[in-house]
Amino acid sequence: MAKENTKYIFVVGGVISGVGKGITSSSLGLILKNRGLAVTSIKIDPYINVDAGTMNPTEHGEVFVLSDKDETDQDMGNYERFLDVNLTRINYMTTGRVYQSVIERERNLEYKGKCVEVVPHIPQEVIRRIKEAGKKAEADVVIVEVGGTIGEYQNMLFLEAARMMKIEHPHDVIFVMVSYLPIPSKVGEMKTKPTQHASRLLNGSGIQADILIARAEIKLDEKRKEKIALSCNILPERIISAPDVDSIYDIPLNFEKENLSDRLCSLLGVTCKKPDAKKWNAWKNFVRKTHNSKGIVKIAMIGKYFETGDFVLSDSYLSVIEAIKYSAYAQGRKPVFSWLNSVDYEKNPAKLKELKKYDGIVVPGGFGARGVEGILSAVKFARENKIPYLGLCYGMQMIVIEYARNVLGLKDANTREVNPDSKNIVIDVMESQKEHLKNNSYGGSMRLGAYKAIIKDGTVARSAYGKKEVEERHRHRYEVNPAYIEALEAKGLVFSGRSPEGQLMEIAELPKSKHPFFLGTQFHPEFLARPLTPHPLFTAFIKACIKK
Ligand code: GLN
Repeated sequence: MAKENTKYIFVVGGVISGVGKGITSSSLGLILKNRGLAVTSIKIDPYINVDAGTMNPTEHGEVFVLSDKDETDQDMGNYERFLDVNLTRINYMTTGRVYQSVIERERNLEYKGKCVEVVPHIPQEVIRRIKEAGKKAEADVVIVEVGGTIGEYQNMLFLEAARMMKIEHPHDVIFVMVSYLPIPSKVGEMKTKPTQHASRLLNGSGIQADILIARAEIKLDEKRKEKIALSCNILPERIISAPDVDSIYDIPLNFEKENLSDRLCSLLGVTCKKPDAKKWNAWKNFVRKTHNSKGIVKIAMIGKYFETGDFVLSDSYLSVIEAIKYSAYAQGRKPVFSWLNSVDYEKNPAKLKELKKYDGIVVPGGFGARGVEGILSAVKFARENKIPYLGLCYGMQMIVIEYARNVLGLKDANTREVNPDSKNIVIDVMESQKEHLKNNSYGGSMRLGAYKAIIKDGTVARSAYGKKEVEERHRHRYEVNPAYIEALEAKGLVFSGRSPEGQLMEIAELPKSKHPFFLGTQFHPEFLARPLTPHPLFTAFIKACIKK
C-alpha cells in the first residue's frame, strides 16, 4: 500500500563525476532508516542502454544483478548493502528505459492521439516510475540519485522531472547537491568557485539545493562554509563537510556527527524516531573493525578486467571485494588484494609460483576466451598446492574444465564459450538456450537473478551455509554439461549444490579431506553479502585462508 505522504530526496552531483553520489545516497538512506523511516533508493543512469548488461565492465564497472533479474549499475549494490534491502527493477532507470516505455505506450495508442513530446512526456514517465518505486516499497522516503553531473546535457530531462515533482509536491521534495571543492596543489587553498558555478547551473534548471555535501580532501573551514552559504543560497548549517575517508562505511557516522538526519527530517517535515541504538551500535562496531582489524589476509584476484590505461580498475569486481572485506573484518582481518592478470601466466608459466605468497585465490566472473588458459593453470596450481580457492561463476566453470583435463585426462576439455569445436565440451549451453542464441538474442539466453539451490549434506558448502536450501543470484549463459557429471564425481569432484530439479550444477568442490578449500559457485554469492551479515561461503573461504 502506498504511504499517504511519501517524501522524495533528489541527490545530484556538481563539478566532477565520481564525487561519491552513490555512497552519499546510500548513507542518507541508512541514517534515515535508523530514524525509523522506511526508505527506498532509485538510481537514474543517463545513458541510452536499457540496462547495464551490455556494458563492458572495464569501462563501466561491475554489472550488479538484482534478485528479479535486472542488470544494473554498481550503485544499486551500494544501496542494497547499506540499507540491507533487496531492490527491484523499478528502482533502476536509464534514459533508454524511459524512452522505451514512452514509445511503447505511444504505439499502443495510450496517449489517445496526442502529440507525444520530450517535455512533458519523458519527465512524466520518470515521475511515474519514482512514485511507483515508492509505492512498491511502501516507503516514507524515496532517495533518487540522478547520475551524471549538473550542467551536462544527458541528465537534463531527469532534473526537469525533479523540478516538476517539486512544483507538484512543494513540501515533499528536497534536493541534496554533492559537490567537490578542489585544492590545487600549487595554490594550496580550497576553492569554492566551481561549487558556486555548479549551484548556479542547478538554479538554471529551476532547482535550489536544500543541502550541500561538500566533498574535499579535507574538512571545510568556517570561512568557506560562509562563502558557499552566501553564494549558493544555503544556510551554513545545511552545508555538510565530507572530507575523504579511509572507509566508505564511515560516511553515515560522519553525517550524523553533523546531525544530518535531524536536518533532513525537519526539511522533509517528517517526525522521526530517536536513533535505534542497537542497530547504530552494530554499524559502529562494523566500522570499528574496518579500521582496527590487526592481521591481514592476502588475496590474489585473478582475472582480466583490471586495466584501464595506466590504472588498475578494481571497480569491475566491487561486490566481490566488499564481500571479502565483510567476511575478513568479521574474523578481525584486513584483506590485502593483489590484482593478477591471467594473461601473464600464459606468457610465462614460471610466474605461477608467485601464487604461493597468497593466503587465498579468487577467480571472479568473466566472459570470453582471453586469459582463460592462464586462469586454468592457476586453478591447477591452487588445487595441487592446496591454496584456498574460491571460483565465482566463470571461476567455477574453470574448476570443472581443469578437473576434466588434468584428473579425468580429457585433454581438450573446454567450455563452448571458448572452443565450440572441442570434443569434450564440459561447460555447455542448455537446449532451451540454443534457440535464443541462434537469433542473436544474447540477453534472453542468460540465466539471471535469484534461483534456489539444494545443498548436499556433509559437504563444505553445507557446513558453511548451515542449511539445505539457499537462494542465490545468477548471471551466466553456460552450465556444467550433465553428460560429464558422473565421471567427474567418480574422480572425486563433488557437486554440492544443484538446482531443485537436480539438472543444473550450482556448486563444485573438493572434500575437506583432499583440499583445505577448493570451491566454486555457478551463481554470484557476492551480490548477497552485506556488511552486518557476511556471506557464509566467503566466510568459509576466509577462514581457510587464515588457517593457511
Ligand atoms: N562466461 C560464463 C557464462 O556465461 C560465466 C559468466 C560469469 O562469470 N558471470 O556462463
